[in-house]
Amino acid sequence: MLRKIRGLHINGRKKMSTDAPIQTYLNPEYVYVPLIAGSTKLKPIVSAGDNVLKGQVVALREDRFAHPVHSPVSGSVVGVKKVWHPIARMVEMLEIKNDFQENAVDDFGEALIDLTKEAIIERVKNCGIVGLGGAGFPTYVKYLPNKPAEVVLINAAECEPYITADAVLIQAFADKLISGIRYIMMATGAPKAQIAIKRTKQALIAHLNSHLKGFEDISLLLLPDVYPAGWEKYIVEHALNKTYNGLPSEVGAVVNNVATAIAVCDAVEENKPLIEKVVTVTGEGIKKPQNFFIKIGTKALELIERAGGYIDDLGDAYFIAGGPMTGSAIYTDDMAISSSLGSIIVLPKRTTAIEQACMGCGRCADYCPAFLTPTEIKRAFIAGEIDLAEELGALKCIQCGLCSYVCPSRVEITDAVVKAKTAVQKKKAAAVKKG
Ligand code: SF4
Ligand code: SF4
Repeated sequence: MLRKIRGLHINGRKKMSTDAPIQTYLNPEYVYVPLIAGSTKLKPIVSAGDNVLKGQVVALREDRFAHPVHSPVSGSVVGVKKVWHPIARMVEMLEIKNDFQENAVDDFGEALIDLTKEAIIERVKNCGIVGLGGAGFPTYVKYLPNKPAEVVLINAAECEPYITADAVLIQAFADKLISGIRYIMMATGAPKAQIAIKRTKQALIAHLNSHLKGFEDISLLLLPDVYPAGWEKYIVEHALNKTYNGLPSEVGAVVNNVATAIAVCDAVEENKPLIEKVVTVTGEGIKKPQNFFIKIGTKALELIERAGGYIDDLGDAYFIAGGPMTGSAIYTDDMAISSSLGSIIVLPKRTTAIEQACMGCGRCADYCPAFLTPTEIKRAFIAGEIDLAEELGALKCIQCGLCSYVCPSRVEITDAVVKAKTAVQKKKAAAVKKG
């Protein structure tokens, strides 16, 4: 029998960025294309001084998840330099100077006529579409299995506090979202699709229902208003009443998020590569929180300036790339926005956030959605007992941050479990290398 979702209702703090319309900012003077995807290095195929067109391929991922990466603007390549990335470190990026002409490659805008599985997959691959929900995994790879999928699941839970990019996308582009879902169904052979959304999002549910009239094979999957109801495994279990160990494809599910489905629509209907996206800039440290439609590779500081800047008495603050539960604290706002980043959050530091000793209350274990005992994993890690950390399930940690969130002593327990998980992964990788 499947276990019930464990989670917690968290104040969403979303209203602050949903009231204003999406602001378009497509004219940065420079954009930055990271030469990494996850831990994989990308190969640049342009050099300093080259002129490039909007949508031109400028780098390639060449491993088994190969795909191209495109220039978001027309202009000239300045060179390769190290720039802060949302993964909280500096990485090599192509710096491209915008000429503001928006001159695009010739086939930009060409609709795909041949709507076969193979042609859609090829188009999605060539447009460089990757998951926009945070992981950045190449989308076409999910469509490759020859066996038809049972269901396409669109993750519209957006369950981390503050983030509203998917909500505003649904409001503004529901038709594109539905078209994208239909193309994903064609690419995967799935006879039906479900949009997973929290049951409390009444306005969005009504909006989606009004656009879904006549689409009998697309329905809504209502989720409880808890964090992390948007966990992929939970959505799949909730939809199919089946569980899996590795990937959703094991039980016939393909999961994409809202922004990814819209990007698939743009790829199929306009041959538009992944060069633009919506990102939320919000938090109590920002004067006018809002959502921006931007060129990927824009610097965060430019968006913060357009959001009115920081509040006057900000003082020490957390600058977070991503959500407050799973994002990375970054030391600077001089950071380039990558394709998988959904939000920038600025929070004044709370004076109460001082870590105290663990009092052994067990709350972290009570709320862990992966049914782990974080304190035991931490103890094993500190003692250097990496095998024990593995036995305790460190690899199952989904890095949701809930254990730290519920801890009354403000112990950075998530950090310890994630370090234990990384240590287990490294040990296993080293063992494989050794043979
Ligand atoms: S971060 Fe990991 S250990 Fe902590 S609650 Fe989430 S899944 Fe459990
Ligand atoms: S919730 Fe915090 S104080 Fe309670 S057992 Fe977990 S780490 Fe210790």
